Amino acid sequence: MNLILMGLPGAGKGTQAEKIIEAYGLPHISTGDMFRQAIKDGTALGKKAKSFMDKGALVPDEVTIGIVRERLSKEDCKNGFMLDGFPRTVFQAEALDKIMSDQGSTIDAVLNITVDPEQLMARLTGRRICSNCGATYHLIYNPPKQEGVCDKCGGELKQRVDDSAATVRERLKVNMEQQQPLITYYTEKQLLKQVDGDQAIDQVFSEISAILGALSV
Ligand SMILES: [Zn+2]
Repeated sequence: MNLILMGLPGAGKGTQAEKIIEAYGLPHISTGDMFRQAIKDGTALGKKAKSFMDKGALVPDEVTIGIVRERLSKEDCKNGFMLDGFPRTVFQAEALDKIMSDQGSTIDAVLNITVDPEQLMARLTGRRICSNCGATYHLIYNPPKQEGVCDKCGGELKQRVDDSAATVRERLKVNMEQQQPLITYYTEKQLLKQVDGDQAIDQVFSEISAILGALSV
């Protein structure tokens, strides 16, 4: 079973990824891990990637795609994998199709965890940090006993600029614009499976299990 996992930041992708890996025994292939491993192994592509990252530059597509190709040809991917964070563009998606066809394989499903944007805003802007002791809270998941006050030391709770509504809204907008062409691409290939992420974690996972159970692989 060859899967791609998609979803906006805050949609619960990480949590569902862990559950899928555990239930289906698939290797979790995230771009970050893949880069780190290639650099650690000192492969030619790893060295190339590092030279760009050291300069703070974006790693060019040909290097990223090469690293994906190397990773997917490893033994542990023979019975399937779950890609996370790749592809990011239609160009990369087309390159992935080429890699798969060279291996005599195909992508079986693209899971897209969707969440209502307002819910997402609440999740992503809810973090508060104690300005005195650094303890972290979340207005939905881990609220302080008294609003704006640290349970541990009584210090004032503050929001980081990164978590502010304006910053988060901009980040989501950029992500949505980036994902849209991919969603269209995989919809046209009839591979896209929408998963309702506005449910409890276990319900989201049952929905995913039902989708994967219906695949003929
Ligand atoms: Zn505190």
